[in-house]
Amino acid sequence: MIPAAFEYHRPKDLDGVLSLLTEHGDEARVMAGGHSLIPMMKLRMADVPHLIDLQDVAGLTGISHSDNTIRLGAMVTQHDIIGDAKLAERAPILREAALQIADPQVRYMGTVGGNVANGDPGNDMPGLMQCLDAVFTLVGPEGTRDVPARDFYEAAYMTAREDDEVLTAVTIPVPRGGYAYEKQKRKIGDYATAAAAVQIVKDGGTCTAASIAMTNLSDTPVYSDAAGAALIGTSLDDAARAAAVAAMLGDIDPTEDNRGPVAFKIHVAGVILNRAIERAWARA
Ligand code: FAD
Repeated sequence: MIPAAFEYHRPKDLDGVLSLLTEHGDEARVMAGGHSLIPMMKLRMADVPHLIDLQDVAGLTGISHSDNTIRLGAMVTQHDIIGDAKLAERAPILREAALQIADPQVRYMGTVGGNVANGDPGNDMPGLMQCLDAVFTLVGPEGTRDVPARDFYEAAYMTAREDDEVLTAVTIPVPRGGYAYEKQKRKIGDYATAAAAVQIVKDGGTCTAASIAMTNLSDTPVYSDAAGAALIGTSLDDAARAAAVAAMLGDIDPTEDNRGPVAFKIHVAGVILNRAIERAWARA
């Protein structure tokens, strides 16, 4: 498959990107790792007369730490996440999730910014970032703004990002407690049939905080306040876990596709979420 003809731009800084976006409007798209966008162009599902490569743009790479937060530049790759020892120590769920994305070749190129900006309900990082209460930094002609991951997703491939804005960084509060990223897929390298991101804080045998999000079970990632709330104040006995699963199943809205019928997806979601909660609790 061959994409339609396009003009390739490779600016060196963000101002250059923004002026190209302003000049070409709807006809321009930024490209990060290209591992979602290029396949879409080859399939002729995306028509991009002006492709703006972010690879040389200064200031979009690097992982930086402060006492309470971690900042990932938009061009940090999934491979970078897997290989960063300090990140693995402070936010191990990121490494656990990144290892379950695609295969090493894709992970060398696929970026955090591209994964969360894409708006594909099958991408793993949007739900993960909702679980971690991440904030996305967007820069456009009107300036800079921060949007919480939990407010970012509107529908499949529709987000709060304006067409002329570039996502420059993802910032997360340093996660506390136990974690698990659990993913059911048809085969190695596949997108999720269902995936769950869970963080749980335990104090003296009682759950004091819980954050839960799931992937590919609706047209957006699903962060469920009610699922987390069902665990707080409990010792995560069977009844508490069942209540959390029931709350999440009330929030998802899967559709039938080549990963299975709706009833199967709901079943898988419950199994995966229960497993993730148990593993996060054991690590808390
Ligand atoms: P690109 O493809 O370059 O861009 C994707 C979209 O985001 C485009 O619309 C682009 O304009 C926009 N964009 C990119 N960066 C920015 C930015 N900084 N600001 C604003 N907009 C931006 N992903 C998973 O999560 N889980 C999987 O299991 C998985 N399996 C895969 C298997 C295969 C075989 C392949 C090819 C891909 C798979 N992916 C999977 C997707 C992969 O992780 C992608 O790389 C990722 O989703 C997009 O990141 P990217 O850097 O390649 O973005």
